[in-house]
Amino acid sequence: MGHCSGYSAVSRNYVGLYEYELRHRTSYNSDGTGIHGGRHSEHFNSTFLGSCDNWIKNLNFFSSNYGGRNVAWVGDVGVGVCKPGMHGQARAFDLTQLRFTNGSFIDMNYSWRSSRTLAHKRGYVAVAAQCRRYAGTVLTAWYNSAHQNHIHFDNGTAVTYIRTGVKTDTTLVQASCNFLNGESLAVDGIWGSLTEAAYQRLLGRFNMRCTNPKGNRSDAVVFLSYIVRHGLANRAAGTYRHNC
Ligand SMILES: [Zn+2]
Repeated sequence: MGHCSGYSAVSRNYVGLYEYELRHRTSYNSDGTGIHGGRHSEHFNSTFLGSCDNWIKNLNFFSSNYGGRNVAWVGDVGVGVCKPGMHGQARAFDLTQLRFTNGSFIDMNYSWRSSRTLAHKRGYVAVAAQCRRYAGTVLTAWYNSAHQNHIHFDNGTAVTYIRTGVKTDTTLVQASCNFLNGESLAVDGIWGSLTEAAYQRLLGRFNMRCTNPKGNRSDAVVFLSYIVRHGLANRAAGTYRHNC
């Protein structure tokens, strides 16, 4: 498989560091976690590849410093694939699993589901938030049923502030409020008064009330980084605090 003709792309069998090999998901275990093959190549637009390299190296920074886990490999079900949308231009990544060197994992068909442990659910929102720090479009399990077995991220839209009118951003914040700060929001993508109040409480826990992630891109990237560190470390919001 590859991207559509007419777009330039490079072939890569890892992201970030050579050791972070790409592995393709081929099927599922009985518990729903993905079964992945050995190292394989995908086609990347060169600019998008640079973002993916930074995304995973920075994720490893957070996972090693907040939870003591190092990235072993990265599971996928396609990057450059000739179909409509950003995959055709090799500017989209379908992420299935992150595996750590200690054998633990965050699986995009498994970890988000309500029956899983809080640690898994926190890991899933951390991964989604980390994708959103490097790509403007991040489609998760709460976006639609087609994304309940992988997270799609692409750079068709640049990284921006938290958009309260956009379902992908709203559901990510709602789920983060629930998993990191004990809220009970419906993860429905509608930014109403309950979501706003819960968001403000999460912002307060992070000691970020002096910032404006809903209006400012760099504030949003920092806000998302607090979701990443708490999620990867399996800690409640407030364990790590921003300097306001
Ligand atoms: Zn996709």
